[in-house]
Amino acid sequence: MPFPYTGGCQCGNIRYEIQAEPLTLYACHCNECQRQSSSAFGMSMPVPRKAIKLLQGTPKQWSRPAAASDRTVVCFFCGNCGTRLFHQPSRNNKITNIKPGTLDDTSWLSPVANHWTIHAQPWITLSDDMLNIAQQPTDKEFEEIHERFKKKS
Ligand SMILES: [Zn+2]
Ligand SMILES: [Zn+2]
Repeated sequence: MPFPYTGGCQCGNIRYEIQAEPLTLYACHCNECQRQSSSAFGMSMPVPRKAIKLLQGTPKQWSRPAAASDRTVVCFFCGNCGTRLFHQPSRNNKITNIKPGTLDDTSWLSPVANHWTIHAQPWITLSDDMLNIAQQPTDKEFEEIHERFKKKS
C-alpha cells in the first residue's frame, strides 16, 4: 500500500491523512489498551509525527501515564463521537501512533507483534509468525518489531 493513507473518526468530523509509510504495526493486549479500545486489544501503527496532516476538524486530547513507566502518552480523540485517533508517546517525540482501525482501508493491516501477552484474553490465539512479547518491549525488541515490518512490506 503506497501513501498517502486517509482515515477519520466514526462520526466523520475529524479527517486525517498520513504522508509517509508506517514504521511498523503491532497489537497490544495491556489493560490500558483493552479499556481504551473497549475491546480485547488495541493496535498501534507508528508513523513519523510530521507525516500526519489533519484534513478536517481538531481532535481533543488528554494525557495518561504510559504502561509500566514514568512517561506519558498524549491521546487524541474526536470530541463529538469519542473515537480514539492518535497517541503521542513521550518515549519518542518523533513518532505518533495511529489507531489504525480509523483508516479508510484496513484490509492491508497485518501486525507483526503482540505486546503484553500476559494480559491477552484467554480465547486469543497468538500466532507463532508474530513476535510475542510478555510485557512492554525493550528498545532492542522495538528494533526487531520495526525490522519485521520492513521485511514484510
Ligand atoms: Zn467523530
Ligand atoms: Zn497497550
